[in-house]
Amino acid sequence: MKSDCRNFETKAVHGSSNFETRTGAISYPIYQSATFRHEGLNHGTGYDYSRLQNPTREELEKTVALLENGKECLAYTSGMAAISGLLTIFKSGEHLIVSDDLYGGTYRIFEQIYKDYGIEVTYTDTTIIENIKKSLKANTKAIYLETPTNPLMKIADIKKVSEITKKNNLLLMVDNTFMTPYYQKPLNLGADIVIHSGTKFLGGHNDTLSGFIIVNDEDLVQKLRFIQVSTGASLPPFDSWLILRGIKTLSVRLDKQQENAIKIANFLKTQNKVKKVLYPGLKEHTGYEILTNQATGFGSMISFYVDSKATVEKILKEVKIIIFAESLGGVESLITYPDTQTHADMPHEVKAKLGVTDKLLRLSVGIENVDDLISDLKNALSD
Ligand SMILES: *Cc1c(COP(=O)(O)O)cnc(C)c1O
Repeated sequence: MKSDCRNFETKAVHGSSNFETRTGAISYPIYQSATFRHEGLNHGTGYDYSRLQNPTREELEKTVALLENGKECLAYTSGMAAISGLLTIFKSGEHLIVSDDLYGGTYRIFEQIYKDYGIEVTYTDTTIIENIKKSLKANTKAIYLETPTNPLMKIADIKKVSEITKKNNLLLMVDNTFMTPYYQKPLNLGADIVIHSGTKFLGGHNDTLSGFIIVNDEDLVQKLRFIQVSTGASLPPFDSWLILRGIKTLSVRLDKQQENAIKIANFLKTQNKVKKVLYPGLKEHTGYEILTNQATGFGSMISFYVDSKATVEKILKEVKIIIFAESLGGVESLITYPDTQTHADMPHEVKAKLGVTDKLLRLSVGIENVDDLISDLKNALSD
């Protein structure tokens, strides 16, 4: 493949192919077909059946690979389908080191599904390199990072972790959902595998689910592709098109979302009922420096602790513009209560130890007018 010297925003808008060559269509067509005709024996178009190949999905996969600076990308029906596909490359008796603060669904799939298939997991605070070193075992095969973590916004140093994985011949997997390739490119920092819930920022409109894995290694691609098409986790054509369309505006959405998030994080800091604001764009955040070195932005996810459960209830009841709902990354601002939503299946003791308490709220800042968002919060936080 010719090296593509276009800048990020241009790649995002024009995608891998710029336009479809057959018709000149600017918007890549939705090939809504389950199957494809063969002219004769051994005489096909390269497309057989949409679980295996689909042109719209291929355009999306090539575009996401381009944005992450990866060789290949696989598009799945959801972030969890992508993570599940990825975990099936490991065998019973193999061991993984995983960030302790983690999207609840990822924790659940490790604990309630793959543990029964013999995949061993050690959870540790991956922001501390010593912790990772101490967790290494003879059967360790990979390190799985979320950075920033969901919901506590902890930042791991991807490059430093990759020194460990390279030295020990392990795979480094990074869930890049919160940063997106616009702000952070883990493959450039030494990761082997990048994971996304495309449902979030990549799609950006809270209208469809998707998941991605991006890799450089050809053997790994073939293994993952085999599992994906065999198990039927491939993203359908219409969903692929929606994500392609969302990606076109990724950079402008993120710029605006981040600008709003910085203002909101600073506003929250002034509120009596807000006890602590976790936003990596605040200089006092413990991961600020690492993030500044490895990424070009801070994103638009803010978690914050309030003074009481009553305040949580009041905020969730009284917000009018910000919507009380799970998910993140879209143009609409959403507020989530990790304790009973995204992290409902994490045992109470584990949450307590991490700090996912009943006073923690997570805010995904959208592209609305920031003054409207702040007055919405001000009202919900008033006495
Ligand atoms: C949402 C999310 C997932 C799961 O993705 P789905 O598309 O909901 O299946 C994985 N990782 C992170 C960090 C997420 O926020």
